[in-house]
Amino acid sequence: MIVGNNSASRVYVDNKKKACAEIGIYSEEYALPEETTQEEILKIIDELNKKEDINGILVQLPLPKHIDEKAVINAIDPKKDVDAFHPVNVGKIMIGDFDFVPCTPAGVMELIKESGIDVQGKECVVIGRSNIVGKPQAMLLLHSNATVTICHSKTRDLKEVTKRADILVAAVGIAKFVKADMVKEGAVVIDVGMDRDENGKLCGDVDFEEVKNVAAAITPVPGGVGPMTIAMLMKNTVKSASIK
Ligand code: NAP
Repeated sequence: MIVGNNSASRVYVDNKKKACAEIGIYSEEYALPEETTQEEILKIIDELNKKEDINGILVQLPLPKHIDEKAVINAIDPKKDVDAFHPVNVGKIMIGDFDFVPCTPAGVMELIKESGIDVQGKECVVIGRSNIVGKPQAMLLLHSNATVTICHSKTRDLKEVTKRADILVAAVGIAKFVKADMVKEGAVVIDVGMDRDENGKLCGDVDFEEVKNVAAAITPVPGGVGPMTIAMLMKNTVKSASIK
């Protein structure tokens, strides 16, 4: 479901639809106008919750300002919540007993695993504490036996903390925020950011050109975490269909 005219959301939803088509997942799009009421959104979610042939419901965020995002997320059947934003799924992630993992942090874990990087015992630093990236990312790293530190805008001596990281995950939302002097030589750097630079070009939270000289491994933007997020959404949806 997509509500309103956010151009970035349009691109994300189109990419998700394309991925569904590529791997043979049936999808329906509900593209609703900006002025759609909360009742109308909740009514559609209720219908999708009841539909036997729908295993996953994704509401693209952000929603227009007059809509209560929390109420919308809470209305999705947790068994169809393939984004893993519902409080039931968030709680399950906390205790380490979950079916759905939030797609972006799950994509980061998959990238680390597929690159043959062992997380156990490592110092991992996550910059950002949002509910959709930073916090679940920290929990997934913790479940993989890392020693995890979460940083945010009130963190003192940020550079001192990030320099300790064997694995540094940046989810700040500020273009090229992480500079080479914030990164330990030989660290693994994962860039979750999707930002625009001074010329309006897509870039990440990490200054790639600088940091690539210090890091042992680094993800690019675009082409790093972004496509993994979509892949993990597909994985959650297939899982949802198989466990119903
Ligand atoms: P968010 O909700 O805005 O959270 C940003 C976090 O960064 C907050 O916790 C904030 O701290 C912290 N922060 C801000 N300025 C800081 C500073 N100067 N020093 C240290 N920490 C600071 O963003 P988000 O939704 O987590 O997204 C983060 C980035 O990832 C964005 O670029 C977004 O576009 C991107 N993203 C990408 C994908 C993908 O599929 N690749 C998916 C989701 C998001 P406070 O909590 O103290 O404010």
